[in-house]
Amino acid sequence: MDKQYAVIGLGRFGGSICLEFQKMGCEVLAIDKDMNRVNDFADIVTQAVQADSTDEKALQSLGIRNFDHVIVAIGEDIQASILTTLLLKEEGVSGVWVKAQNDYHAKVLSKVGADRIIHPERDMGTRVAHLVSSHKIIDYIGLSDDHSIIEIEVTEKLINRTILDIDVRANYGCNVIAIKRGNDFKVADIARLVLQKGDRLVLIGLNKNLTQFEEQGV
Ligand code: ADP
Repeated sequence: MDKQYAVIGLGRFGGSICLEFQKMGCEVLAIDKDMNRVNDFADIVTQAVQADSTDEKALQSLGIRNFDHVIVAIGEDIQASILTTLLLKEEGVSGVWVKAQNDYHAKVLSKVGADRIIHPERDMGTRVAHLVSSHKIIDYIGLSDDHSIIEIEVTEKLINRTILDIDVRANYGCNVIAIKRGNDFKVADIARLVLQKGDRLVLIGLNKNLTQFEEQGV
């Protein structure tokens, strides 16, 4: 049987998750206490219902314990977000992912058992800062305080060369994990691929090594 997903809170964040699930063809139960929001999503998701997720009985009557993943996308109301998370864990939902407003909120969420805490604004802020500060980096994903993945376009310096002869790992201490060529995403046997204009390299490594590659390698 396909996985069952539920999204609680249909604001901008929860709403975009629902839209993406729908595009992916996933079954989604969308919940909001505001009937207008529920109506907005009625034609988009498998089922949209009005309910207050801090009401234990309401959650039980929706059979929430049968869902593999529940995403708590309640925005401003931190108290409701925490209580909902607690109830979902008490119901035995194994994957409870929760949007945090700030670090205090995140700390409490982890104490009540949230399986994954998401900081959309903070993460996007970090990402934008990295993208803006470098004219070479096309995309950036922070993995930890020290490690990241970056996407960077090859320059004249790298065209007609291969990853092997640039020896990215030995010279810069980071790894090329993929080469993007148009819509093609190459991940296997990339070391000997002759780089062309427009190719993009996806690299993983320590931030300091990636910066060194960005400054000296391309
Ligand atoms: P965003 O920043 O993602 O737009 P919002 O704060 O606008 O977030 O949206 C959060 C949604 O969560 C709102 O639609 C609100 O009605 C809903 N919500 C808040 N508390 C509850 C609750 N206890 N039960 C169900 N839905 C809730």
